[in-house]
Amino acid sequence: MSAPAAPSVAGLPTGARVILASHNAKKLRELQRILVTAVPHLAAHQIISSAGIELPDVVEDQVTFEGNALLKARSAAAATGLLAVADDSGLAVDVLGGAPGIFSARWSGRHGDDEANNDLLLAQLSDVPDRHRGARFVCAAALVAPDGSEHVERGEMRGVLLRERHGEGGFGYDPLFRPAGQTRSAAELSPDEKDAISHRGTAFRAIAPHVARLLG
Ligand code: IMP
Repeated sequence: MSAPAAPSVAGLPTGARVILASHNAKKLRELQRILVTAVPHLAAHQIISSAGIELPDVVEDQVTFEGNALLKARSAAAATGLLAVADDSGLAVDVLGGAPGIFSARWSGRHGDDEANNDLLLAQLSDVPDRHRGARFVCAAALVAPDGSEHVERGEMRGVLLRERHGEGGFGYDPLFRPAGQTRSAAELSPDEKDAISHRGTAFRAIAPHVARLLG
């Protein structure tokens, strides 16, 4: 099946070849670092985010990370005619049966309120002994081509939940999470240290060969 003609979308820079369906500048820089290293002849400026580009709103109504990542990537590929990448991620706590999971960003009730989410998680686990405080970050990265071909890759980072916040870096639950094999919380790691072991880094690196093949 041949690719449909690229639609005209307000704000789309000429020369763009890959779009990340996210407004998160840190995710864009991470994807750029990984793809520029892995994909011959692809430059960082050819990988853009959807910030400032008029894309249709996507209702993330799927119940898996993979499903929601695919929704976002499909929509961005269809609207722009570019190769589209999207991710969906969250924290899965063993003793909570994998929650907050897809509800991670709004666990306390308000979307994106990291402080309230961390306070609630600390309270929920206050009586849980150290040996049962295992958790993992999960990321699904979806890649959708304008011709409809799709790839989804999953990355995970295991660790334990701390009893208080440590560190100022990162975002979300990072101050409460110490990755396996580390002596510091995820919020105390440099961006490069976190990328090397993170769920998102693993998932983005796994889609890189597919990007290389699709761009030819
Ligand atoms: P999103 O998929 O990037 O929107 O992330 C959803 C939510 O999962 C975030 O709001 C955070 O609460 C949590 N989360 C995902 N990845 C991370 C991470 O690397 N560190 C800390 N929290 C994360």
